[in-house]
Amino acid sequence: MFKVDIPRRKSRQIKVGNVLIGGDAPIAVQTMTNTETCDVDATVAQIERAARAGADIVRVSIPTTEPAEAFGQIRKRSPVPLVTDIHFDYKIALRVAELGADCLRINPGNIGREDRIQAVVQSAKDHGIPIRIGVNAGSLEKDLQKKYGEPTPEALVESAMRHVEILDRLNFKDFKVSVKASEVFMAVEAYKLLAKQIEQPLHLGITEAGGFRSGAVKSAIGLGMLLAEGIGDTIRVSLAADPVEEVKVGFDILKSLHLRNKGVNIIACPSCSRQNFDVIATVNALEERLEDVNEHLDVAIIGCVVNGPGEAKEADLGVAGGEPNLFYIDGKPSHKVQSEDLVGELEKQIRARLERIRSGKEIPIKAV
Ligand code: SF4
Repeated sequence: MFKVDIPRRKSRQIKVGNVLIGGDAPIAVQTMTNTETCDVDATVAQIERAARAGADIVRVSIPTTEPAEAFGQIRKRSPVPLVTDIHFDYKIALRVAELGADCLRINPGNIGREDRIQAVVQSAKDHGIPIRIGVNAGSLEKDLQKKYGEPTPEALVESAMRHVEILDRLNFKDFKVSVKASEVFMAVEAYKLLAKQIEQPLHLGITEAGGFRSGAVKSAIGLGMLLAEGIGDTIRVSLAADPVEEVKVGFDILKSLHLRNKGVNIIACPSCSRQNFDVIATVNALEERLEDVNEHLDVAIIGCVVNGPGEAKEADLGVAGGEPNLFYIDGKPSHKVQSEDLVGELEKQIRARLERIRSGKEIPIKAV
């Protein structure tokens, strides 16, 4: 299969809990909870759903001391590492570090007094946790807004470098940085500039990207432009939608660029009047049935013989519509399937293949 190797920017590797970020580690997919953090059960349930969808890391907002205490309980129950999102209050950072935070998202330049900055950095060192510097075009410092007139890529990078320099001065190297903007080209340019200036991993995101459809498109374009140039070590797709959707879109972006494979990759035609079975209904039903699958497998679902045999030959499993529909296994025609049995047969064959992969008896032919 045609494939382009994308050389990755070499970044220093850090660890968020048990997840490696940067270096040669797979690009990690993150999301953020949107529950009330004090509602421990609801927050844990959302983290668990995101984790089941494949989230490597989840960020939790800690606006005041009350959610900081709730965080302690959330951390104990979370199946994935948690980044705590803190603004300004250094005491919250110290507390969540004690309670098991896997990363502190706090901008050192916003903490205030030097002794407080030092206390937070020392706490991160003592607990062995990294810091994320997060610069956002919407909350750029006033003097930078004045200097540049408006948010610009250079302004975002200058802001980020102020925080970086504080950590450098305190000899703290385990951090990652984001320079997010809702304007795609601004964010892309800012990340490109920053990538030349620091060795630390970059956390990519197009902030406030929008609702599910428009946000997914915007993120795919922005993140895609950077990832295709080898820039980016972890991503978050910001959507005004369920965090689970952010995770799914994140993996779809990585899958499209062959940067990370997770779950069944369905190759489906858009369908037309030539289709011999309902392609859209088949794809939707199958995606729903296979939400629990994390292993990679290419499955082609093509409505007729125009493109069916060609695509099915390139996939691990496939079906080409016809009279009868023809099922393909490892690129070879295998057996006929009635349209009404297609979803069931596809699921059965996929799960049987996955069982063999899990038991070590087989590797997927398109494994990368
Ligand atoms: S593969 Fe066949 S059914 Fe699917 S869109 Fe093309 S012509 Fe239509």
